[in-house]
Amino acid sequence: MTTAPMDAAARRAVKPVICYPNNSLPKPDLDLYRTARAGAQKISETLVEPRDAGCFEVPAGYFFRISSVEGAQVGDLNLWNRDDLKERFYSGKTRALHGTHITTGERMWSSFPQMRPMATIIEDSLGWYGMDEFGGSVHDVIGTRCDPYTGNLLAGSQYHHCCHSNLIRALADHTGMSLSEAEPYVHDVLNVFMCTGFTRDTGQYFMKASPVRPGDYLEFFAEIPLLGALSACPGGDCSSEHSSDTAACFPLLVEVFAPKEGALENWQSPALNGYDQSHGR
Ligand SMILES: [Zn+2]
Repeated sequence: MTTAPMDAAARRAVKPVICYPNNSLPKPDLDLYRTARAGAQKISETLVEPRDAGCFEVPAGYFFRISSVEGAQVGDLNLWNRDDLKERFYSGKTRALHGTHITTGERMWSSFPQMRPMATIIEDSLGWYGMDEFGGSVHDVIGTRCDPYTGNLLAGSQYHHCCHSNLIRALADHTGMSLSEAEPYVHDVLNVFMCTGFTRDTGQYFMKASPVRPGDYLEFFAEIPLLGALSACPGGDCSSEHSSDTAACFPLLVEVFAPKEGALENWQSPALNGYDQSHGR
């Protein structure tokens, strides 16, 4: 322990400032998206088996919905630009812009240098949950993904159905890459339906039983052409543990919908980030 200075209380009392005030972020036109969604037709579905992952493609301007079916289950979502896998979901920047958990009207942002909205959440049936008394909420961008390396570090285990490995297998199967080629493309996830937070006393990452029930869903508008991969986490509802085969696990359903022709006539994919990339040279 260090000795607190005389003015410690005054220093602690300084009020926080929001790092990235998000009132200047471009606002998604939710009314337009919802009107287009109302006339949309389902074109495909992917059932993701428990402790496994599946890939799906969504053209720009289309919609995708992730649903709980059969039982409470959380999902780990990766997104890439379908035409350039180097542009991928940037969980850390999404957290900086929107906070620890995302919901309706918020967006999944892509990596540098493109840094633009990849997908916008247009409906969240768990929107009622808000923030609970523990500081927990759903759909976080604070966790990474369960992975076999951390399990090995902490417990010496060799477990092969963590979300990290599930996502690698799914991406490899979908693209024809080898596992070692696919692994560097797998990135920090959106934890769909997972209920998490940081403990107020020690600041540790916590999880608790997800409030998700069969029929709940999270629905997105694809701002750019997307390749998605979703893992049905071996933690199931994440009420006790993950990185093992002990939790009850259920499938997750991904459905893709095409808007009616002309429904998005004046809409365009977001432009690439406007920074000139000269970096002072
Ligand atoms: Zn997981």
